[in-house]
Amino acid sequence: MTSSNLQIASGPLARHITRQAVIRYGAREIIVGGGAPVVVQSMTNTDTADAIGTAIQVKELARAGSELVRITVNTPEAAAAVPAIREQLDKMDIDVPLVGDFHYNGHTLLNDYPDCARALSKYRINPGNVGQGAKRDTQFAQMIEVACKYDKPVRIGVNWGSLDQSLLARIMDENAQRAAPWTAQAVMYEALVTSAIENAHRAEELGLASDKIILSCKVSGVQDLIAVYRELARRCDYPLHLGLTEAGMGSKGIVASTAALSVLLQEGIGDTIRISLTPEPGGDRTREVIVGQEILQTMGLRKFAPMVIACPGCGRTTSTVFQELADSIQTYLRDQMPLWKKQYPGVESMNVAVMGCIVNGPGESKHANIGISLPGTGESPAAPVFVDGKKSVTLRGERIAEEFQALVFDYVRTRYAKEVSTI
Ligand code: SF4
Repeated sequence: MTSSNLQIASGPLARHITRQAVIRYGAREIIVGGGAPVVVQSMTNTDTADAIGTAIQVKELARAGSELVRITVNTPEAAAAVPAIREQLDKMDIDVPLVGDFHYNGHTLLNDYPDCARALSKYRINPGNVGQGAKRDTQFAQMIEVACKYDKPVRIGVNWGSLDQSLLARIMDENAQRAAPWTAQAVMYEALVTSAIENAHRAEELGLASDKIILSCKVSGVQDLIAVYRELARRCDYPLHLGLTEAGMGSKGIVASTAALSVLLQEGIGDTIRISLTPEPGGDRTREVIVGQEILQTMGLRKFAPMVIACPGCGRTTSTVFQELADSIQTYLRDQMPLWKKQYPGVESMNVAVMGCIVNGPGESKHANIGISLPGTGESPAAPVFVDGKKSVTLRGERIAEEFQALVFDYVRTRYAKEVSTI
């Protein structure tokens, strides 16, 4: 037999190691970069001036697992509400760091509302929306001065929908002088990357420490995002925030974000991520957190919650029992996680299989920590349960879902219970 050329899958082959930034609130420290686990963040869509409504949504996002939550700070009313949001979160025992998103008037708001500047753990500055002409440098400097004064990290967040037009014009002029001018697309990439890096250097010249700077260059095309971030990673060692901007709704937003981020994460690029999904009307904002976690977990980069392995079903599963059980177990596991992660360390590594028939059911269930193989159409109405690869019991009747859930909980309690010291 010849030796195999197969590589053993173990995550990114090489991580793009960046500097490390620390985002703090109270005793909570979120480390971004320097090889730390990739951080999941999210953004509210409430009116920030509505302090209670915003605090409730921040709480929901944090409970879903968002490690940083960004809020818009766009008006004096919003800036005035930020300390009240923080206070509400403190009362609810939610210590997630808040990030303020500033455009156009950030220099004014941060200076006029010092309690807002203090309550935020990080500022996001879009260099394309800081101001025009001579005012631009002054207003950028004013924001950086506030960050220095309160010792806050800053994300220089470039977005191609709001790219600094004077910088773009300069790069286009330079391009016109080339013997072989670049394409318009290459010029755009260069403008995005240059904007991020030049503004980061300028922030350092103004006194912001290099380990207080995080960069992002968001675009809405998958291939564009990959190209821009590869170049950004090649040219700097600031921690990088990844996200496909305006990813869209439903499956398109999820697929596009996953496609773009997976390529970059596999190349070791990216220290924090946000999935910019457009929610359905009345939809749940926490979806963007769950998708971000699932990208990282399915790639083997982090573990957040037990995974449900379920087959897609086929002509062998003509009832909805199987889909309902897969859905209810998935929901049950997620709902339990805020409590379980404290009581049952390691439970986030658990795999639960819910399979639709005998074809792959027993085999897949044996690979999981605990799995059930439901009877397909025409099979005898019995559902064998497998625990750690061995058949444990067979469930029958109307209460299979409840009984299986109880077995899953028993497994969690016995397998992941905290060891109590006897000393
Ligand atoms: S395990 Fe059974 S029900 Fe599920 S997809 Fe395979 S054949 Fe169909």
